[in-house]
Amino acid sequence: MLAEERLAGSRANTRGKNANRRGLSRPVWSQEAEDFPRLNFQRDSVQGGDLRFACLGRLGRLISGFGRAERKAIEDTIRQPVRVLVSSTFHNNYSKGNLAYADVWKIGHENYRTDLFELMQREKVSAEEQKARLPNQTFRDRITLYLGGKEIQILYVGRAHTRGDSIVYVPQDRIVYLSELFFANQFLFINDGYGLDWLKALDAVEALGAEIFVPGHGPIPADPRETRQELRRFRQMLVDVRDAVQKEIARGATEDQAVATIRWPQYEKMQSYDAQRETAVRRLYQQLTGALK
Ligand SMILES: [Zn+2]
Repeated sequence: MLAEERLAGSRANTRGKNANRRGLSRPVWSQEAEDFPRLNFQRDSVQGGDLRFACLGRLGRLISGFGRAERKAIEDTIRQPVRVLVSSTFHNNYSKGNLAYADVWKIGHENYRTDLFELMQREKVSAEEQKARLPNQTFRDRITLYLGGKEIQILYVGRAHTRGDSIVYVPQDRIVYLSELFFANQFLFINDGYGLDWLKALDAVEALGAEIFVPGHGPIPADPRETRQELRRFRQMLVDVRDAVQKEIARGATEDQAVATIRWPQYEKMQSYDAQRETAVRRLYQQLTGALK
């Protein structure tokens, strides 16, 4: 588990509880689909970055009790049961939330399933919990669902935050749900990530034709179309990270020397920068030199 993510998760939980108390009653986008909700989040909580979307990826929470409360809040809002859960990252702060959806059909990328399974074996999770958290259905490239008159594309755009991230694109809404492919206004988490592939994945996202890009973490602007600029800023961060490491490699620096040297002052005020700077250097160094395949 990633300690910082856990922290971020519990902060989000606190906000989420407040949002629940307020009733989660004011989705910014309405649920036009009869069988499949679009996106629900409480505008009041946007400043805290507590975004939620029903059925899609961001439901997992560290505290399963909260997961249940959140599920209830979502179901009260959309006035129908959650029927499909798409999981993106196998990390505990998300996948433990699956416990609240033991009865729901769960979909995840095949690498997600493999990595989640290995994580739970390592942590000696009970068989019952494993069953509740693992997906019922996996895929390699894409799955398309047709629900409530909408096409829901569950896509794999390559390795990024992990090697098994899913994104969900709803062409009719021109919304793409990016889970942890996109940390808005935060430094990236890359403990299990692949920076070079991540850049390609973001290019594939840009090519989809979406106009709203929902981040897994961070705030949504009042005009959600501004998420495109946010996403571009995030992509630029990845470019800056890569280029700085590449420069050190070109100068003949070792991995440790690169860690000692590289700073990105333009990002140092961002959440997670201190915790992730070294990891970002190491992951990129290893990938650029071929040590990380
Ligand atoms: Zn994660």
